[in-house]
Amino acid sequence: MLAKLDYDQLTNCMRCGFCLPACPTFRETGLEPESPRGRIALMKAVVDGVMDPDQAFEDQMNHCLGCRACEPACPADVKYGQLIEQTRDAIEDHAEHSAPVKGLRKLFFKGVFPHRGSLKWMGRSLALYQKSGLRRVARGTGLMKLFPEHLREMESILPDATGKGVVERIGTVYPAKGEKIARVALFRGCIMDVMFADTNVNTVKLLSEAGFEVVIPNDQVCCGALHAHSGEMDQARGLARTNLKVFKEAGVEHIVSNAGGCGALLVEYDHLLHEDPEHAELAVWFAESVIDVSRLLVERGRLPEFADADVHSGQSVKITYQDSCHLRNVMKSSDAPRRLMKQVANVSFVEMKEADRCCGSAGIYNVTQPEMAGQILEHKMAHANETEARYLLTSNPGCLLQMKLGVEKHGVSDRMEVKHVVDFLYERIAGRTDDK
Ligand code: SF4
Ligand code: SF4
Repeated sequence: MLAKLDYDQLTNCMRCGFCLPACPTFRETGLEPESPRGRIALMKAVVDGVMDPDQAFEDQMNHCLGCRACEPACPADVKYGQLIEQTRDAIEDHAEHSAPVKGLRKLFFKGVFPHRGSLKWMGRSLALYQKSGLRRVARGTGLMKLFPEHLREMESILPDATGKGVVERIGTVYPAKGEKIARVALFRGCIMDVMFADTNVNTVKLLSEAGFEVVIPNDQVCCGALHAHSGEMDQARGLARTNLKVFKEAGVEHIVSNAGGCGALLVEYDHLLHEDPEHAELAVWFAESVIDVSRLLVERGRLPEFADADVHSGQSVKITYQDSCHLRNVMKSSDAPRRLMKQVANVSFVEMKEADRCCGSAGIYNVTQPEMAGQILEHKMAHANETEARYLLTSNPGCLLQMKLGVEKHGVSDRMEVKHVVDFLYERIAGRTDDK
């Protein structure tokens, strides 16, 4: 940790505590070590040699959602996100995982996420499981009961997977409708293109309707966010270097992200590679080129007409929005998605209480820390139910799944639908003819 942590950032914390009310884990527990200030103090104590990085320390670091709500609240501009990533990286260097955990980490971080071929294979296998009746057999025979409850719940709300991603569906270049405003590139993501390929396709088509030519470089790889959040920084850097080269060659003005979790790492490639002289300059260009789809549409797009929030009856429909923490706290985009939603005819937008608070998804947090994630989700659902919204919109696949889980658990799926903002908008373009 001494070698990996930025000591200036540790000492920048003046222990004012302004970040405490913003922190979901502190709000849930009321405990100082579960707060940003407490975690920074623990990190500093280890770096100063005052305490050992024992299991309790590691647990405290793992309880952090990485939502970064503490950063905008901090008057000293402490880069907490960087500190927690550096800490996890240092912990991972000496981690003693059990053989199955080691195997799973190796399989997903090295074998699946970085390789398009493996992701396609995963998508096809999942689709086969979902559609061939295997899922029914697994549930009927009680096989699923071998898995912990939270994994069974997650399995039940997974969308239909596919091995056919956005490039296989619409090619690598999609023309602008009408006069071209700019040539942009889509960052398609790894899981996103397997579990939410429709959203990727809709993103491209929505951008096209708004006047953008969209290229989808086929050699792009996973952003590395899951690696970075799990202490695999070298692997995250390797993926970033590949993306720099691929997107530079695409010759675009913007690199568009439709997933807050990915976008937040992409806009920080400059920091990720700042000690790599060969790539640092290109990383700055890359980070400055990344933009969230909502912001690009609002700031530069020629927005199409969006008709009828309720595509069937044309009546007024209540909608609400759950912020993606990374989109809000790192990419600083919270206004643009809201402005876009309000463009749809007959929409009645209801702001959800604490919409800026994490939903508990946080990458794979809801898998690794199910108890805390479930507790946070319960509070979120209480606020979501209060809105009485017909649609709950989000801008990140992880948030979407977590909210869908909450809606199912609360038995309100017949009156509240969870959707990505892009899908909601695309489906409501007036006079749209190019259906998938
Ligand atoms: S708000 Fe910033 S300076 Fe104050 S305690 Fe939190 S991290 Fe430290
Ligand atoms: S990243 Fe989120 S959970 Fe972690 S300390 Fe900051 S506010 Fe709390």
